[in-house]
Amino acid sequence: MCSGRVDLEFVLRAFSNGMDGVFIGGCRLNECNYITHGNYDALNMVLLCKKIMEHIGLNPERLRIEFMSSADGILFAEVMREFGKKVNKLGPLGKAEGIDHNEVKSKLAEITKLVPYIKVVKNEKLASRLENPEEYDNLFTKDEIDTLFSEVTSYYIDPKKCQACMICAQRCPVEAIVGAKNQVHVIDQEKCIKCGTCFEACPPKFAAVTKISGEPVPPPIPEEKRTIVRKSKKIKQKGG
Ligand code: SF4
Ligand code: SF4
Repeated sequence: MCSGRVDLEFVLRAFSNGMDGVFIGGCRLNECNYITHGNYDALNMVLLCKKIMEHIGLNPERLRIEFMSSADGILFAEVMREFGKKVNKLGPLGKAEGIDHNEVKSKLAEITKLVPYIKVVKNEKLASRLENPEEYDNLFTKDEIDTLFSEVTSYYIDPKKCQACMICAQRCPVEAIVGAKNQVHVIDQEKCIKCGTCFEACPPKFAAVTKISGEPVPPPIPEEKRTIVRKSKKIKQKGG
C-alpha cells in the first residue's frame, strides 16, 4: 500500500527477472496520511539503488520514482509514456550497457545477497528526509558505494572464545550458523547475509563473534575439533 514498503530487494528482483525498467509511484512528499512518511524511505532506497546500478554498470535511468496523488491521472499518464519511451530506447537490460545477460544476473544476485548488510550499514541515510531535490544526487556518492562493496564486513566466530551458548544460531535469520550443545559454532559464509545479528547477540562475556573487513575470513575449524571440553569435566576426567 505504501511506497515505503518497496524494498531494495524487490527492485533488484524485478531487474533480475528480466524487467528493463522499474517505476515506483508514491504519494506526494509531505502529504503522507501517516506519521511514517514512507515515501521518503522509498526515495532514499531509489537514490541508493541508482548508485548501486551505476556501480555494477547498469544505466540508473532504468529506475524511476515519482510522487503524485490519486487526482494526478494526467501527470501519471505523461510520466508513464515518457518512462516507457525511455526504457524502450535503452533496450533490454544489459544490452545497451554492453553487459552479458548472465553477468547482469550474477551481479544482481550478488548484490541481492548483500541487501540486509547494505540496509544495516546505510541505515541512517535510508531514514533521512531530503527536502530539496538538489540534495538527491549527493545523498549517496560513488566513492561511498565503491567502499561499501570493497569493504564488505564478514563475521567470524573465534573457536577459542565460543562457549556454545547457542544464542547466535537461534537469532540468525537465515540459519547460517552451524552448531550444537558443547560444539563450537561456525558460520557458513555462503549462507551468511552479513546482517550482524550474531555479533550483537553473542554475550559480551564471550565476545566470540568478530567483524572482518577487507581480509579473507579464516577457514572454519574442522568438525572433529569442535567439541568443547569444559573445565569441570577435565578435572573429573583427571580425578578418574
Ligand atoms: S551475520 Fe551472523 S546472524 Fe547475520 S546472517 Fe551472518 S551468521 Fe547469520
Ligand atoms: S553466541 Fe557467541 S558464545 Fe554463544 S554460540 Fe554464538 S559465538 Fe558461541
